Amino acid sequence: MAPGSIIGGKQVAALKALGFDAVFDTCMSADMTIMEEASEALMRLTQKKDELPHFTSCCPGWVRFCELFYPDLMKHLSTCKSPAEMMGATVKSYYAEKKGLDPKNIVSVSIMPCTAKKGEALRKELGHDGMQDVDYVLTTRELAKLLKKKGIDFESLPDADYDSILGESTGAGRIFGATGGVAEASVRSLYYFATHQAPPDGLLEWQPVRGLTAVKEAQATVPGVGTVNVAIVNGMAAGRQILEQIRKGDLSRWQFIEFMACPGGCIGGGGQPKSQFASSEDMRKKRIAALYQEDRGAKRRSSHENTEIQTVYKEFYGAPLSERAEKYLHTSFDDKSGKIFDSETQHAANTPPKA
Ligand code: SF4
Repeated sequence: MAPGSIIGGKQVAALKALGFDAVFDTCMSADMTIMEEASEALMRLTQKKDELPHFTSCCPGWVRFCELFYPDLMKHLSTCKSPAEMMGATVKSYYAEKKGLDPKNIVSVSIMPCTAKKGEALRKELGHDGMQDVDYVLTTRELAKLLKKKGIDFESLPDADYDSILGESTGAGRIFGATGGVAEASVRSLYYFATHQAPPDGLLEWQPVRGLTAVKEAQATVPGVGTVNVAIVNGMAAGRQILEQIRKGDLSRWQFIEFMACPGGCIGGGGQPKSQFASSEDMRKKRIAALYQEDRGAKRRSSHENTEIQTVYKEFYGAPLSERAEKYLHTSFDDKSGKIFDSETQHAANTPPKA
């Protein structure tokens, strides 16, 4: 299918045809991530200033990079789990309770554009009550192969709806897949949490954070908070430069930094299907344009407006950063310096070789 095709509804139908009992939308849990992350960033901006700049943590490729090569900067990482893990944790707690299911009988499978999510799902920190949040991860490429193997003709499937109560998403949740999208979505809700006012139009079409430049910078003025200087890091080569600057003590230039490992963000993820179209900047641009088009056409464009999210918080989590939210939706990190082994040099790749 053409790059940028919107296939959410067909994907739900395909997963039902494969035998899944319920299909939820990771864009919904991206909205949940924003509820937690925007609240956390606001708290850091107003109270815990030594944890600034705030680093996003939804990309496991980036999180592992930080743990391996910049463990001294881990305190800046948001403690929020990624949307995939928040979904798994919520399915095996709130959803199970609501449906009268034993969470131990639930098998949760994440469909992801991302190969790093496979490693993320195995992290010991990402589970609760003796269960992993996510049991299996299939990349979108593996899903495509599975559908072909089962003889399911994806293109001819009718659209189907995600299952309630974890199936509604806002425009903010959709743009998570594009570089800059996490920061844009976060700032929309951060503005609301700080002011109880809807974000201005400029933050709903925040052009400086969009596009495929390696490092983008933008400022948001939030009444009562001040100017929030934001950086968007597109790929880890640029990430290294920014992190070196911060390591040298440049702590005040930015207050919020989004890091995504793959070029263009998750739309360029390593698990995406290979296709007749060369993996090019043009293809990434088309995929990104489709996400922003969905955002623009969405009934609700900020995560806190998601009515299912409001219900989940009312019935289960209480409020962002509550004790229960911390248990299920937040995580911790591990200093992994020295834990990559380079088979060619016979040395840990992130430590200098011994003389
Ligand atoms: Fe995975 Fe890449 Fe997205 Fe990071 S940017 S979450 S590594 S697909």
